[in-house]
Amino acid sequence: RFITFEGIDGSGKTTQIRALAARLRERGEAVVETREPGGAPGAEEIRRLLVEGAPGRWSPETEILLFTAARRDHLERVIAPALGRGETVLCDRYVDSTRAYQGVARADLRSTVDALHDRMIRREADLTLILDLDPGEAVARERARGGAEDRFERFGPEFQVRLRAAFLGLAAEFPARCHVVPAGEAPPRVAARIAEIVG
Ligand code: C5P
Ligand code: MG
Repeated sequence: RFITFEGIDGSGKTTQIRALAARLRERGEAVVETREPGGAPGAEEIRRLLVEGAPGRWSPETEILLFTAARRDHLERVIAPALGRGETVLCDRYVDSTRAYQGVARADLRSTVDALHDRMIRREADLTLILDLDPGEAVARERARGGAEDRFERFGPEFQVRLRAAFLGLAAEFPARCHVVPAGEAPPRVAARIAEIVG
Protein backbone atom coordinates (compact mmCIF):
# COMPACT_ATOMS: atom_id res chain seq x y z
CA ARG A 1 0.00 0.00 0.00
CA PHE A 2 0.89 3.56 -0.63
CA ILE A 3 0.82 5.95 2.36
CA THR A 4 1.61 9.66 2.02
CA PHE A 5 2.41 12.24 4.69
CA GLU A 6 1.38 15.84 4.19
CA GLY A 7 1.40 19.07 6.17
CA ILE A 8 3.07 22.47 6.45
CA ASP A 9 6.85 22.84 6.76
CA GLY A 10 8.01 21.72 10.22
CA SER A 11 4.89 19.66 11.01
CA GLY A 12 6.99 16.53 11.69
CA LYS A 13 6.45 14.50 8.52
CA THR A 14 10.00 13.17 8.28
CA THR A 15 10.11 12.15 11.95
CA GLN A 16 6.77 10.37 11.74
CA ILE A 17 7.68 8.50 8.55
CA ARG A 18 10.79 7.18 10.26
CA ALA A 19 8.75 6.02 13.26
CA LEU A 20 6.06 4.31 11.17
CA ALA A 21 8.65 2.64 8.95
CA ALA A 22 10.42 1.20 12.00
CA ARG A 23 7.15 -0.10 13.40
CA LEU A 24 6.06 -1.75 10.14
CA ARG A 25 9.49 -3.31 9.58
CA GLU A 26 9.43 -4.74 13.09
CA ARG A 27 6.48 -6.83 12.06
CA GLY A 28 8.14 -7.94 8.85
CA GLU A 29 6.72 -5.55 6.24
CA ALA A 30 9.04 -4.43 3.43
CA VAL A 31 8.93 -0.63 3.57
CA VAL A 32 10.27 2.01 1.19
CA GLU A 33 10.75 5.47 2.72
CA THR A 34 10.84 8.17 0.12
CA ARG A 35 10.13 11.86 -0.40
CA GLU A 36 9.01 14.53 -2.84
CA PRO A 37 10.13 16.49 -4.64
CA GLY A 38 12.78 13.86 -5.35
CA GLY A 39 12.90 10.22 -4.36
CA ALA A 40 14.57 8.99 -7.57
CA PRO A 41 17.86 10.16 -9.17
CA GLY A 42 16.21 12.18 -11.95
CA ALA A 43 13.55 13.58 -9.63
CA GLU A 44 16.28 14.65 -7.19
CA GLU A 45 17.90 16.62 -10.02
CA ILE A 46 14.59 18.39 -10.57
CA ARG A 47 14.34 18.97 -6.80
CA ARG A 48 17.62 20.87 -6.95
CA LEU A 49 16.17 23.19 -9.58
CA LEU A 50 13.18 23.82 -7.33
CA VAL A 51 14.82 24.35 -3.94
CA GLU A 52 18.16 25.91 -4.85
CA GLY A 53 16.89 28.85 -6.87
CA ALA A 54 15.98 32.27 -5.53
CA PRO A 55 12.42 32.27 -4.10
CA GLY A 56 10.82 33.91 -7.14
CA ARG A 57 12.81 31.95 -9.72
CA TRP A 58 9.85 29.94 -11.07
CA SER A 59 6.31 31.08 -11.66
CA PRO A 60 3.63 28.93 -9.97
CA GLU A 61 2.76 27.46 -13.38
CA THR A 62 6.37 26.41 -14.02
CA GLU A 63 6.57 25.00 -10.49
CA ILE A 64 3.55 22.80 -11.21
CA LEU A 65 5.27 21.44 -14.32
CA LEU A 66 8.52 20.76 -12.45
CA PHE A 67 6.81 19.11 -9.45
CA THR A 68 4.72 16.98 -11.80
CA ALA A 69 7.78 16.00 -13.87
CA ALA A 70 9.61 15.00 -10.69
CA ARG A 71 6.56 13.02 -9.52
CA ARG A 72 6.26 11.17 -12.82
CA ASP A 73 9.90 10.07 -12.62
CA HIS A 74 9.54 9.11 -8.94
CA LEU A 75 6.37 7.13 -9.66
CA GLU A 76 7.89 5.29 -12.64
CA ARG A 77 11.25 4.49 -11.08
CA VAL A 78 10.51 3.96 -7.40
CA ILE A 79 6.89 4.03 -6.23
CA ALA A 80 5.17 1.84 -8.84
CA PRO A 81 7.92 -0.83 -8.86
CA ALA A 82 7.86 -1.07 -5.04
CA LEU A 83 4.06 -1.34 -4.96
CA GLY A 84 4.30 -3.96 -7.70
CA ARG A 85 6.58 -6.02 -5.42
CA GLY A 86 3.95 -5.78 -2.69
CA GLU A 87 5.97 -3.39 -0.56
CA THR A 88 4.64 -0.53 1.55
CA VAL A 89 5.65 2.92 0.32
CA LEU A 90 5.80 5.81 2.78
CA CYS A 91 6.19 9.12 0.98
CA ASP A 92 7.04 12.50 2.53
CA ARG A 93 4.72 14.77 0.43
CA TYR A 94 2.92 13.82 -2.78
CA VAL A 95 0.27 15.41 -5.01
CA ASP A 96 -1.64 16.97 -2.09
CA SER A 97 1.38 19.22 -1.50
CA THR A 98 1.16 20.46 -5.09
CA ARG A 99 -2.60 20.92 -4.70
CA ALA A 100 -2.08 22.90 -1.48
CA TYR A 101 1.06 24.92 -2.35
CA GLN A 102 0.65 25.70 -6.04
CA GLY A 103 -3.09 25.05 -6.30
CA VAL A 104 -4.26 27.13 -3.34
CA ALA A 105 -1.68 28.86 -1.15
CA ARG A 106 0.75 30.24 -3.75
CA ALA A 107 -1.68 30.62 -6.62
CA ASP A 108 -5.25 29.77 -7.58
CA LEU A 109 -4.28 26.94 -9.92
CA ARG A 110 -5.97 23.89 -8.50
CA SER A 111 -7.62 22.91 -11.82
CA THR A 112 -4.23 23.05 -13.56
CA VAL A 113 -2.67 20.81 -10.90
CA ASP A 114 -5.55 18.35 -11.24
CA ALA A 115 -5.50 18.34 -15.06
CA LEU A 116 -1.80 17.48 -15.13
CA HIS A 117 -2.24 14.91 -12.39
CA ASP A 118 -5.06 13.19 -14.31
CA ARG A 119 -3.01 13.11 -17.48
CA MET A 120 0.48 12.27 -16.19
CA ILE A 121 0.20 10.68 -12.73
CA ARG A 122 -3.30 9.42 -11.82
CA ARG A 123 -2.07 7.27 -8.93
CA GLU A 124 -3.46 8.55 -5.63
CA ALA A 125 -2.25 7.36 -2.24
CA ASP A 126 -4.27 4.66 -0.49
CA LEU A 127 -3.99 6.60 2.76
CA THR A 128 -2.86 10.16 3.46
CA LEU A 129 -1.88 11.41 6.91
CA ILE A 130 -2.18 15.18 7.17
CA LEU A 131 -0.08 16.38 10.10
CA ASP A 132 -1.86 19.45 11.38
CA LEU A 133 0.13 22.00 13.35
CA ASP A 134 -0.16 25.69 14.14
CA PRO A 135 2.40 27.49 11.92
CA GLY A 136 3.74 29.42 14.93
CA GLU A 137 4.54 26.15 16.67
CA ALA A 138 6.17 24.79 13.53
CA VAL A 139 8.52 27.79 13.38
CA ALA A 140 9.36 27.41 17.09
CA ARG A 141 10.17 23.73 16.56
CA GLU A 142 12.50 24.42 13.66
CA ARG A 143 14.21 27.15 15.68
CA ALA A 144 14.66 24.76 18.62
CA ARG A 145 16.48 22.24 16.46
CA GLY A 146 18.53 24.97 14.77
CA GLY A 147 16.87 24.11 11.49
CA ALA A 148 16.15 25.84 8.24
CA GLU A 149 14.03 28.77 9.32
CA ASP A 150 14.49 30.31 5.89
CA ARG A 151 11.91 27.84 4.60
CA PHE A 152 9.30 29.82 6.51
CA GLU A 153 10.62 33.18 5.47
CA ARG A 154 10.33 32.27 1.82
CA PHE A 155 6.69 33.32 1.58
CA GLY A 156 6.07 34.62 5.11
CA PRO A 157 4.05 33.30 8.06
CA GLU A 158 0.67 34.12 6.50
CA PHE A 159 1.62 31.76 3.66
CA GLN A 160 1.91 28.88 6.13
CA VAL A 161 -1.50 29.83 7.56
CA ARG A 162 -3.05 29.61 4.07
CA LEU A 163 -1.23 26.35 3.49
CA ARG A 164 -2.58 24.81 6.68
CA ALA A 165 -6.11 25.78 5.65
CA ALA A 166 -5.51 24.30 2.20
CA PHE A 167 -4.47 20.93 3.69
CA LEU A 168 -7.54 20.89 5.94
CA GLY A 169 -9.65 21.66 2.86
CA LEU A 170 -8.14 18.65 1.07
CA ALA A 171 -8.91 16.45 4.09
CA ALA A 172 -12.57 17.50 3.84
CA GLU A 173 -12.58 16.93 0.08
CA PHE A 174 -11.11 13.41 0.27
CA PRO A 175 -12.47 12.03 3.57
CA ALA A 176 -12.03 8.36 2.64
CA ARG A 177 -8.31 8.76 1.94
CA CYS A 178 -7.18 11.59 4.25
CA HIS A 179 -6.84 11.56 8.01
CA VAL A 180 -5.98 14.72 9.93
CA VAL A 181 -3.51 13.99 12.74
CA PRO A 182 -3.00 16.71 15.38
CA ALA A 183 0.78 17.15 15.37
CA GLY A 184 1.30 19.49 18.33
CA GLU A 185 1.88 16.74 20.88
CA ALA A 186 5.16 14.94 21.62
CA PRO A 187 6.34 12.85 18.63
CA PRO A 188 5.72 9.45 20.33
CA ARG A 189 2.08 10.42 20.96
CA VAL A 190 1.64 11.52 17.37
CA ALA A 191 3.24 8.22 16.29
CA ALA A 192 0.77 6.27 18.45
CA ARG A 193 -2.17 8.05 16.81
CA ILE A 194 -0.75 7.27 13.35
CA ALA A 195 -0.29 3.61 14.36
CA GLU A 196 -4.00 3.43 15.25
CA ILE A 197 -5.01 4.82 11.86
CA VAL A 198 -2.61 2.68 9.81
CA GLY A 199 -3.41 -0.45 11.78
O1 C5P B 1 9.34 19.02 2.48
P1 C5P B 1 10.60 19.61 1.97
O2 C5P B 1 11.31 20.47 2.98
O3 C5P B 1 11.52 18.57 1.38
O4 C5P B 1 10.19 20.58 0.76
C1 C5P B 1 11.16 21.34 0.09
C2 C5P B 1 10.71 22.76 -0.12
O5 C5P B 1 9.75 22.83 -1.18
C3 C5P B 1 10.04 23.38 1.09
O6 C5P B 1 10.47 24.73 1.20
C4 C5P B 1 8.56 23.32 0.75
O7 C5P B 1 7.88 24.34 1.41
C5 C5P B 1 8.59 23.52 -0.75
N1 C5P B 1 7.47 22.92 -1.49
C6 C5P B 1 6.72 23.71 -2.36
N2 C5P B 1 5.70 23.16 -3.10
C7 C5P B 1 5.43 21.84 -3.00
C8 C5P B 1 6.17 21.02 -2.13
C9 C5P B 1 7.21 21.59 -1.40
O8 C5P B 1 6.98 24.92 -2.44
N3 C5P B 1 4.46 21.33 -3.76
MG1 MG C 1 10.60 17.20 6.29
